[in-house]
Amino acid sequence: MSEKHTPLSSLGEFGLIDHLSKSFEIKQDSTLKGIGDDAAVIDHQDKCTVVSTDLLIEGVHFDLSFMPLKHLGYKAVVVNLSDVYAMNATPTQLTVSLAISNRFSVEALDELYAGIKHACDTYGVDLVGGDTTSSLKGLNISVTAIGQAKKEELIYRDGAKAGDFICVSGDLGAAYMGLQILNREKQVYLENPEMQPELDKHKLLVGRQLKPEARKDVIAYFKEHNIRPTAMIDVSDGLSSDLMHICKQSDVGCHVYEANVPVHNETYNQALEFNMDPITAALSGGEDYELLFTVSPSDESKINNQEIDIAIIGKIVEKDKGLMLQTRANHLHELVAQGWNSFQK
Ligand code: ADP
Ligand code: MG
Repeated sequence: MSEKHTPLSSLGEFGLIDHLSKSFEIKQDSTLKGIGDDAAVIDHQDKCTVVSTDLLIEGVHFDLSFMPLKHLGYKAVVVNLSDVYAMNATPTQLTVSLAISNRFSVEALDELYAGIKHACDTYGVDLVGGDTTSSLKGLNISVTAIGQAKKEELIYRDGAKAGDFICVSGDLGAAYMGLQILNREKQVYLENPEMQPELDKHKLLVGRQLKPEARKDVIAYFKEHNIRPTAMIDVSDGLSSDLMHICKQSDVGCHVYEANVPVHNETYNQALEFNMDPITAALSGGEDYELLFTVSPSDESKINNQEIDIAIIGKIVEKDKGLMLQTRANHLHELVAQGWNSFQK
């Protein structure tokens, strides 16, 4: 170890991953994609395997004072499946690793696994292994999802071309507003334990935070309609940050129209109640687990119809035009990526 002490926050999450991984060269011909996409891709001649992993730490990624363990189990699986779908692959197996403190009972872990099982049944994946160990404090869960696709079906982050349409499924910012409500109700409860949380009237937003779904149906829709996105990512850190990944890796710019960014009415109204601009929740909130993708203009009619909730939110442009957001008032702003950075929270 050297004497130098560089703080992690000086690199940020992505800078740190680049820094740690830069000396690792790909040695195997079968490694089609290593670090840098939603999942790694391994070539087996006829088919490819995709692998994606996530680590969730109590107190950093989830708060058990408002997150039921069953939902946590479900969400821990879903966020990994979302990465597999973002490669246009089908998830098939999972491993789940746990580090548990002695604060947890068998019954508590049964709840967690009821959620994991529900996700396995809903998405048709098998739990095939993992690891179980103790932790000094709190609960840590790591899920690895494995999936399959033919080589020609895989969609990476680096295929977007100037002129492509930028599309997103569902609507954005709801999970973030759900989290704000849960945090507010927790504060109210801590200050006055006799106050009951008012969650019933916020079912949709709270539900998006506690029990997100991965967009299996969007991948099925692509297959059914013979649509081949040119680039794809799932929205985990927030639209700005995730679109930035596509632009950076594809070496292009983007032009997003604020008026086209899909925001649910409840998200919109709740943002105003919190004195927040709704577009900020949609661009930077994160945890939406919607699919963000680009298509060539020839696929527009297949996307732009009532059959599925996909919105065209902008266009890919040449790199030198930058990453821009056109506001409702027709002002142009640079799109700022203030996605999740766990070292600066
Ligand atoms: P996502 O948000 O889609 O889950 P991440 O932002 O977590 O993706 O990760 C970006 C890329 O960096 C992925 O390819 C991931 O596998 C890789 N990665 C993350 N952490 C590490 C690490 N500690 N060592 C090696 N690769 C890592
Ligand atoms: Mg992802």
